[in-house]
Amino acid sequence: MSFLIEDKVAVVTGGSSGIGLETVRLLLQHGAKVAWCGRDVSRLQASMESLAAEYSAEDMYIQQCDVLDKASVHRFIGTTAATFGQIDMLINNAGQGMVADFESTQDEDWLSEVQLKYFSVLNPVRCVLPYLRKSTIASVSNVNSLLALKPETHMIATSAARAGLLNLSKNLAHEFIKDGVRVNSILIGMVESGQWQRRYQNRSDLEQSWEDWIAGIAQKRGIPMGRLGKPVEAARALVFLASPLSSYTTGSVIDVSGGFSKEI
Ligand code: NDP
Repeated sequence: MSFLIEDKVAVVTGGSSGIGLETVRLLLQHGAKVAWCGRDVSRLQASMESLAAEYSAEDMYIQQCDVLDKASVHRFIGTTAATFGQIDMLINNAGQGMVADFESTQDEDWLSEVQLKYFSVLNPVRCVLPYLRKSTIASVSNVNSLLALKPETHMIATSAARAGLLNLSKNLAHEFIKDGVRVNSILIGMVESGQWQRRYQNRSDLEQSWEDWIAGIAQKRGIPMGRLGKPVEAARALVFLASPLSSYTTGSVIDVSGGFSKEI
């Protein structure tokens, strides 16, 4: 099935790794042109190189950009629009979670978590909106977490900030309807990606393989599907929401958690 995004232009924040990189790959596979960013230049270059054999250099654009730096986002979006002539889809993926309970979360941690979750969306949306208003398939798709609905004490600030982002996404969806811009989110449970690889590096049992470590987490957390998600499984939901295949869907969410959410 086609996603109907051939020759359309997508921006993916945090496209150099994990879910973002698989989203970039899937968009390219379906004929879109894609610009993506990240903070680390070498990771960004490596992501471009990993795609270079399969996709045309003319359809790809990378730029170093911290989504919390307004001027940098402005430059990234401006150059993307100048390179491809239009922007049709924005996928806000850049970010990470903070593992800390109430006692160990300082005021500055609260501020940085709220800043990351809100401004990683607000900064790109502000810059991309004028281009989206000119598109016939305009969409914003936000990567969010099941923590927004199902808070966890060991990620207290991330959970609260994620809930706020879900509320914000709904409101943006309603405000942007008049501009023909859809806004949706995916709610992730646990997906094997850079975040988990970094936690694996710090595991207590250094003998444990990645596969055993990941399987142990799935079992301990009681994920009904018995495993963590793959980045491409999150990417598929994101590209569906970004594409005209979901043309009558806005202010909505897709749960990508392997059945972890029992709420109705
Ligand atoms: P990865 O660490 O593999 O990917 C994160 C990507 O975002 C990297 O490309 C990273 O590049 C980039 N990034 C991070 N911060 C910034 C920033 N300030 N500006 C620009 N780019 C940035 O992890 P995931 O693929 O898992 O993460 C994708 C999203 O999914 C994140 O928002 C994460 O919080 C969310 N999520 C993931 C879950 C999971 O289980 N994997 C669970 C719930 C939510 P660089 O570091 O070079 O900037």
